Amino acid sequence: MCRHLAWLGRPRTLSALVTEPPSSLLVQSYAPRRQRYGTVNADGWGVGFFTPGRVQPARWRSARPLWGDPSFASVAPVVSSGCVVAAVRSATVGMPLEESAAAPFTDGRWLLSHNGRVDRAVLPPVRDAESTVDSALLAALVFDRGLDALGATVREVGAADPGARLNLLAADGTRLLATTWGDTLSALVTPDGTALASEPWDDDPRWADVPDHSLVEVTPDGLTLTPLP
Ligand code: GLN
Repeated sequence: MCRHLAWLGRPRTLSALVTEPPSSLLVQSYAPRRQRYGTVNADGWGVGFFTPGRVQPARWRSARPLWGDPSFASVAPVVSSGCVVAAVRSATVGMPLEESAAAPFTDGRWLLSHNGRVDRAVLPPVRDAESTVDSALLAALVFDRGLDALGATVREVGAADPGARLNLLAADGTRLLATTWGDTLSALVTPDGTALASEPWDDDPRWADVPDHSLVEVTPDGLTLTPLP
């Protein structure tokens, strides 16, 4: 993925999070402002969200550009959630172009998105990856190790592939976890909830850049930053 976001807080419609803001993920799919790698994110999109009474998230993904999906545009204003992960994809060269290669990936109650790239050869073998795309193999490894080990897993993979970019974003309905490792991430903390996004979706002055090589945890109590040396 090349641009992703997550929200934890009061329920918001998917359109309020993904398509309506002035620099929404939809706009970022064709005109990102801070993207360092790639120029458009036209190789698919995905959104995963939690709903009351259900532990596992619902997911909607596609291999098409987000701007070419009128069905999503019509449904997004009437679906609300208090915990969402969404992403638009710019496929890394050589990676498959298919719906199952689009984030967010899932395992049980977790959703996970990857903005970056990693040499698949350095990843330990994993079962149950959703696709052969590097991000799906990395997601399967993170799920296998457990999300409480996210920082350790990113450090291990980063050491095995010094060229890797490993910005990850995960959610389980009650908290968000993220890493910065080679690409941008911003955070918006408001009384209504907290957003994490590859780049701000509007000009709210409360958006703050997350330093590179950080582990971020968001709970209803707030945001915690830990350096990832
Ligand atoms: N490597 C991943 C893919 O090919 C993510 C790419 C990206 O972050 N732009 O889908």
